[in-house]
Amino acid sequence: MEKIINNSICMKTHYCDFCRRPMLLGGYYTLRDGLEQCKECYSTAIDTQEEECQFAKVTSSLIIGLMQTYFRIEIDVKIDFDFVTADEMAKLDGKIFIPTPNFDGRTLGRAVKNHYGYSIYIEEGTPERFAIMNFVHELAHIWQYLNWNEDEIKAEYGEEDHKLVYEGMATWVQIQFLLLTKYDQYIDLARQNEKSELMREDAYGWGLYNFKAKYPFVDAPEELSKTPFNTKIWPEVDSKWPIEKPLMKPKN
Ligand SMILES: [Zn+2]
Ligand SMILES: [Zn+2]
Repeated sequence: MEKIINNSICMKTHYCDFCRRPMLLGGYYTLRDGLEQCKECYSTAIDTQEEECQFAKVTSSLIIGLMQTYFRIEIDVKIDFDFVTADEMAKLDGKIFIPTPNFDGRTLGRAVKNHYGYSIYIEEGTPERFAIMNFVHELAHIWQYLNWNEDEIKAEYGEEDHKLVYEGMATWVQIQFLLLTKYDQYIDLARQNEKSELMREDAYGWGLYNFKAKYPFVDAPEELSKTPFNTKIWPEVDSKWPIEKPLMKPKN
């Protein structure tokens, strides 16, 4: 009996904590905090000081530039970076990170106000395409912090649902951004991410569902006429947003 149990533990499938794919025994890497990463994700992981510097100084400026062009917005604030472990990221939320063989859902980024602008936290070892997606999500939050009045949004949507507005938009932005890059690997990630986010029964999943209904995804920047950046999301002139209450999730 015991042998069978041990055997089933040995045979337990491990999943990449980034792209979620199942991995063969010996076909993956275990990072400092117990996160497990497939070989493909490992090949673009930002895991050396040099790569972190490159992301913080070069890649991030390119991304900010594209964000401003695609969405016709301005993000004029000083931003710096901190690469932290999954454990340190969890601590920022007052939580503890416990790795498992399954995909470990966790906070992947965070924007924190400091005395001169914002600090963005990104997880160490994040594959580049995921780091870009997470950075875009945090940039959307920074734009919200600079342009929205949280008290007004809370008054309109309530304490719980106001998170949907923030997280739904930031999740919509991360996917729409990747779709506009026109690079296959980023578009694939966007489609994958859209599916997994819509499965979530929380502010991200419900929020994305509502934002997608109001702002359908497009493939080219010139098709992007109405965005949550350029329309007032609360309160609408003729109807209230979200479109329906209680919030509806897709059935599958
Ligand atoms: Zn992977
Ligand atoms: Zn967020």
